[in-house]
Amino acid sequence: MTTSFEKPRFSIRGVALYGFKSTAAFLDFLLPGEQVRSGTLVAINAEKVLTAERDSEVKELLDHAEFKYPDGISIVRSIRKKYPEAQIARIAGADLWEALMARAGERGIPVFLIGGKPVVLDATCDKLRQQWGVNIVGTQDGYFAAEEREALFARIAASGAQIVTVALGSPRQELLMRDCRQYAPDALYMGVGGTYDAFTGHVKRAPKIWQKMGLEWLYRLIQQPSRWRRQIKLLKYLGYHLRGEL
Ligand code: UDP
Repeated sequence: MTTSFEKPRFSIRGVALYGFKSTAAFLDFLLPGEQVRSGTLVAINAEKVLTAERDSEVKELLDHAEFKYPDGISIVRSIRKKYPEAQIARIAGADLWEALMARAGERGIPVFLIGGKPVVLDATCDKLRQQWGVNIVGTQDGYFAAEEREALFARIAASGAQIVTVALGSPRQELLMRDCRQYAPDALYMGVGGTYDAFTGHVKRAPKIWQKMGLEWLYRLIQQPSRWRRQIKLLKYLGYHLRGEL
């Protein structure tokens, strides 16, 4: 286990972020040599920055997560604007998670998976075992009662998991990771949102070309027009970016 790490190098509206030039470089940082860093990974996009500004609990959750990284294209653009020397890529949470699972499989690192519908979680485990031989030491679908939380945390601690990935949506997954760390403090935690759904083909991700152009958000908007209201709120962030209030 490694707990020492360099300070995050970027700050956008008070959120400290790690930035790397590729997903692979970030992965090497998280899993140096034979080790696994302890801490919590949280994907940051414009929506989370705005939420943290009006919700102090979310702000505190973000402050306590060691490994925040730019998942949203607007955050990447803001870092490039504020730090013109920075060579950073957008790190899509779904890509980082797949890379993490592939590496975990190679090294036999024990993994615990939480969240998603039972069928999706089962399909995710099957695919992880088949594709990368991932050593899955426990699972819990995302539809359990609050009273079951402590038993779940005890199960995670007893499993010896070194990586715990949590797909409950935000901020539920961040709250769960915060609480679970008191039982299993040495693991690397990652909040993954709807990643299991995409991984198993239950939800489609944007084609690579859209992702490269920084338009994954637009693709999701076309697929789920109900996200429109959420997108409108992001104009506030655009204002910060354009005025350089970063
Ligand atoms: N989810 C869950 N339990 C719940 C609600 C949601 O496990 O009570 C799962 C859901 O199945 C989905 C994931 O949380 O796989 C992420 O949901 P969403 O797409 O809303 O998250 P986002 O990525 O937008 O934060």
